[in-house]
Amino acid sequence: MAVLEVRGLAKHFGDFKALQGIDLATRDGEFVTIVGPSGCGKTTLMRVIAGLEKPTAGDVMLNGKVITPLPPRARHIAMVFQSYALYPHMSVADNIAFPLKARGVAKGEREALIRWAAKVLGIEALLHRRPARLSGGEKQKVALARAMVRKPALFIFDEPLSSLDAQVRAAARAELRQLHDRTGVTTIYVTHDQIEAVGLGDRVAVMQAGALRQIGSPQELYYEPANTFVASFIGTPPMNLLPRDGVIVGFRPEHALPRAAAPDLADVATFAIRVTRTEFLGSEWLAYGSIDGAFDNAKVLCKLQQDVIGKVKLGEIQDFVVSRALVRFFDKDTGLRTAPVTV
Ligand code: ATP
Repeated sequence: MAVLEVRGLAKHFGDFKALQGIDLATRDGEFVTIVGPSGCGKTTLMRVIAGLEKPTAGDVMLNGKVITPLPPRARHIAMVFQSYALYPHMSVADNIAFPLKARGVAKGEREALIRWAAKVLGIEALLHRRPARLSGGEKQKVALARAMVRKPALFIFDEPLSSLDAQVRAAARAELRQLHDRTGVTTIYVTHDQIEAVGLGDRVAVMQAGALRQIGSPQELYYEPANTFVASFIGTPPMNLLPRDGVIVGFRPEHALPRAAAPDLADVATFAIRVTRTEFLGSEWLAYGSIDGAFDNAKVLCKLQQDVIGKVKLGEIQDFVVSRALVRFFDKDTGLRTAPVTV
């Protein structure tokens, strides 16, 4: 059981500020995902938490105790990377046992821990194989087992699934989450894939340019983004962000409807949109267009269900409505959420 906290964390490489002033606290037993574009500092943050990198400023705390000066092995943190770094000349069992041997754990206890981890992950039949004879998903499980036997207070996963193909990846993702739910070990999971982050996390932390932009439940990030970065990073396709009179007006593609399809919908904001192209996605349609009037023909995207696509008249300007409760406003200069204005 563990609560991980970082306070005022900064990491500079020369003049480059890889992390700047990160404050973040997990809850006990929580599964927190960290998401952000490539180069935003996710791996650096994990390396500082694990003790592989010294912060320029700030502290890392585990259960209220400052661990910043401690070496990695004294932190009770297990980190699993994308590259599994299994020893090719050792069997799966020996790979799993390696960190235990390094710590001088007795043979009997080692074997019991290997059996336990192999059973939890369903890899008992693989224990005598060499890594070269394993699939990507199996290797990932071995790396996981090796992290588990250390009985860490905290798991850190840094893009652990990114080398797997899409199907295996989806299954491995589900298994990882189940493993967490069974063991209850506080987990931080890094990914650049917002769908994965939102699907897996109890809470999602969004990073950009070395800073933490928002942390919240997937629903909070989706409905109440704190800034335009989060609004456009979370959700597929991203929120429409339309500059107008010093503010940015935002609404999600799936929240717009042709007026003709919702004549009775009350308390709505109306947008004059010219749809120029539609795209069939299977379960729904994407409508690409531009938005007229004060929005200066900004590009806009709507996601429409099969039963309303027939109301769209290609090439014509027509009214689309969005429930006012779902329209968001941001400052044009800072990108931060602001109070609603009339649209
Ligand atoms: P990705 O998703 O591509 O792995 P990331 O969000 O994990 O990216 P980091 O690996 O943390 O990003 O890197 C953040 C920034 O810090 C990058 O611009 C990187 O080039 C820089 N950086 C990382 N390590 C060092 C280092 N040892 N020396 C100099 N710059 C570094």
